[in-house]
Amino acid sequence: MAPHYEFMLLRGGRYIDEGHRIRTGDILIENGRIAQIGRGLKAKGAIDCTGRLIMPGLCNAHTHTASILFRGAGEDLSLYEMFHRLLFPAEAKMRPADSYIAAKMCMQEMQATGTTAIFNLDLIAEPVLKAMKETGMKGVIAVATKDQPIYSDQPRLHPEKQIAETVKLKKKLKSGPISVAFGLANERECSPELIKEVAELAEQHETKLFMHAAESEQEVEYVRRKYGKRPLAYLDSLGALENTVLIHAVHLSDQDARLLAEKSVSVVHCPRSNVALGNGLAPLHAFFDAGVNICLGTDHPMPNPNTSMLREVAFAGLAHRVRGWHVNSRILMDFATINGASIAGAGWGRIKPGAPADLAIMKPWTLAEHSLNNLVYGECYTVETTLIDGRPAVRDSKLMEKARAIYERLRQ
Ligand SMILES: [Zn+2]
Repeated sequence: MAPHYEFMLLRGGRYIDEGHRIRTGDILIENGRIAQIGRGLKAKGAIDCTGRLIMPGLCNAHTHTASILFRGAGEDLSLYEMFHRLLFPAEAKMRPADSYIAAKMCMQEMQATGTTAIFNLDLIAEPVLKAMKETGMKGVIAVATKDQPIYSDQPRLHPEKQIAETVKLKKKLKSGPISVAFGLANERECSPELIKEVAELAEQHETKLFMHAAESEQEVEYVRRKYGKRPLAYLDSLGALENTVLIHAVHLSDQDARLLAEKSVSVVHCPRSNVALGNGLAPLHAFFDAGVNICLGTDHPMPNPNTSMLREVAFAGLAHRVRGWHVNSRILMDFATINGASIAGAGWGRIKPGAPADLAIMKPWTLAEHSLNNLVYGECYTVETTLIDGRPAVRDSKLMEKARAIYERLRQ
């Protein structure tokens, strides 16, 4: 991490305020927090932000950072084929040190596009946690616990180890910018017994449960045939909805939207991944109207090779306009900022006095009036500096070479 500056002034720029309006003002950062916003502020260590737009750091609410090594592989394969032929065999060869390098490289890449918090769901947690600490990335770590192999030749699963790792880290990380939650892979790869057990553990530990659900029609059909229910009713029957964050939630109905709201379930929408895999689009408008807390995530780098949250925001906006919902950029920015903060119980996502100084300084590379529309859809900006708690995020180019060497080894 870069050194911590006690005071820092972002001078002469414009910024996105709490209501997502573009304002003019200097931002004074003191001990990692926004201390004051106003005109003509003075401090040592000023950064000239003339012509720049300062954006709150974004929250990528669903990532698999340790899987970045497999970015873009298997373009023509379905989800299960992709996992069976490429992902599972490679993952079986990955050592914790490999996951750490991959996750760290991925986090630095995300920070370079303005992301300052993630909710990560990989098979293991400790190497990801190490990478988060070293990069300053905030957020929540969960382990994608599973006990039902899809294929007979799949590497052995170790749900008991995954649960033990979660409990151990939970005890270790009691407070701070990173927290630990429970995680499950999905309804297909988890038995009802495991879902019940992990949901109970999440309740006991007063933490969230992150889980992929209702992602594809095949999955919905599997649950219907095996358990005689649709995915949401099935998870509800296992007591696995309260305090849960459902990832994807593509194949749900308007009635399901009401149940999500009733049970305070948050949804992470991953439209680029869902569309790339031909899985369709979640009924987001129904979720929004029902009052469901919605976030956005870039998901797995195999179906979605792009980790930029602004790209995800733009895609979500355009995709839902096609579905008849003219969702505006302010709502989309909530999906990418404070809605994630509310899941994490954190204060980031807003530029206001008292908030952590998690900010991206955006520089227009072409003629563009500062507006959310240009920020989200125009691709008119590059991120000049990302600050986390007032510290500039750094990018270590040597990590890419290390990650490349790991990738070459895993391919053999
Ligand atoms: Zn995922």
